[in-house]
Amino acid sequence: MRSDLIVVGGGAAGMMAALIAAEAGVEVTLLEKNKILGRKLGITGGGRCNLTNQADLEELINNTPGNGRFLYSAFRRFGPEQVIRFFQEELGVALKVERGRRVFPVSDQAREVIEAFCRRLQSLKVNLLTATEVKGLTFNREKNQVTGVECENGRTIRAEAVVVATGGLSYPGTGSTGDGLRWAEEAGHKVVPCFPSLVPLVTKEEWPKQLEGLSLINVNLTAWHEGRKLAAEFGEMLFTAGGVSGPIVLSLSRMIAPLVAKEPGSVGLTIDLKPALSFEELDLRVQRDFKEYSRKLYKNSLDDLLPRKIIPVIIELSGIDPQKPVHQITRKERLRLVRLLKSLPMVVERSGSFTEAIVTSGGVDTKELNPKTMESKLIKGLYFAGEVVDVDAYTGGYNLQIAFSMGYVAGLEAARKIPANRKQQLGII
Ligand SMILES: Cc1cc2nc3c(=O)[nH]c(=O)nc-3n(C[C@H](O)[C@H](O)[C@H](O)COP(=O)(O)OP(=O)(O)OC[C@H]3O[C@@H](n4cnc5c(N)ncnc54)[C@H](O)[C@@H]3O)c2cc1C
Repeated sequence: MRSDLIVVGGGAAGMMAALIAAEAGVEVTLLEKNKILGRKLGITGGGRCNLTNQADLEELINNTPGNGRFLYSAFRRFGPEQVIRFFQEELGVALKVERGRRVFPVSDQAREVIEAFCRRLQSLKVNLLTATEVKGLTFNREKNQVTGVECENGRTIRAEAVVVATGGLSYPGTGSTGDGLRWAEEAGHKVVPCFPSLVPLVTKEEWPKQLEGLSLINVNLTAWHEGRKLAAEFGEMLFTAGGVSGPIVLSLSRMIAPLVAKEPGSVGLTIDLKPALSFEELDLRVQRDFKEYSRKLYKNSLDDLLPRKIIPVIIELSGIDPQKPVHQITRKERLRLVRLLKSLPMVVERSGSFTEAIVTSGGVDTKELNPKTMESKLIKGLYFAGEVVDVDAYTGGYNLQIAFSMGYVAGLEAARKIPANRKQQLGII
């Protein structure tokens, strides 16, 4: 069997590459090991699919800590504006913009996005081979040229070009098991070591477990490394059975994960539970509450200040006797409580695993890819797109934007390079 272009991986990047190449007039075969296309896409954004962010070029790059500059050209050619137009006008998916300029389908259904892709791929007569696992790439080593792929049943499919869009290592249950990373290495590419990113953090302390399920809104979370402030995020976080998660934790995890992988326990976190108040303002507020509840026991005096679930933890960590009448609390004790509320400390033991990571940091080294085409600088006709490459971004729709931008560029550029004579055979030119 042969095809002009083979795309391996029917995720966000692969579906986009196949679609764009087919529109450019080449014969495309899309190979996906799952029975269905877009399995991971289906669980994005809590099943609602935050498919891009209405950010400008500079913001896109700033929100892409993993090699954002490499994507400059791809973002310029197929950025949020083009993605939004593509989904609305070409795939017929109505979109809406939410808080933080995050873009979702109006239907709040990721399924709608996948179905729209499938319909368009079928109408373009893309050869869709699902439940087909690719085992490796085939090469003409003398010419440094990719020649096709080998599938699990021993069948080989020949092609002029191959786009590898097999994803990273996160959520392996969706099919992203790092196969493309192995093939890249076999092809002679450098693969930058991978670590889980946008991932929950496991803390040394046991007390977060007591708070499992509690979500804190409008708090400030700061990460510390060797006594220095690493970064801070304001927003929402969540306590889990093992530690902490939620939007601001996931964002900070991008910086924390590689540090704790090298040295477990080397990163500290502090939560400012009352970021709208200065230390002095909060102290005055506590004094007011203590005056009002002066006859109560300390353990019953914080109801106005904190969510109910966290009060026993704060009481314990403050080191003040819970049975003490409020009017007996000393100034020193009160100031200790205020310090705790402004800076509730935790130590990060390690990050969560790939199984629970939203994205993978690391992957095929961008230095060995042409940023204008996504083609390998080592092997002709071999292209990479999406999370298999060493690119990753923060939450907010940026990672899918990356997959779509790279898929677009790889699909179009691969199609352009399919020799003109092959196109002539098909009667396209
Ligand atoms: C829970 C969760 C929520 C997320 N939410 C968002 C969000 O709302 N917004 C956002 O921007 N990003 C989100 N992301 C990140 C985003 O989903 C990924 O960055 C993006 O899907 C990567 O696309 P991809 O095409 O590169 O890889 P994938 O989507 O991982 O696709 C790779 C495909 O290749 C197939 N494949 C792998 N190996 C083989 C093989 N040997 N043969 C054949 N096929 C193979 C896999 O089965 C898979 O279908 C989320 C991720 C997770 C896990």
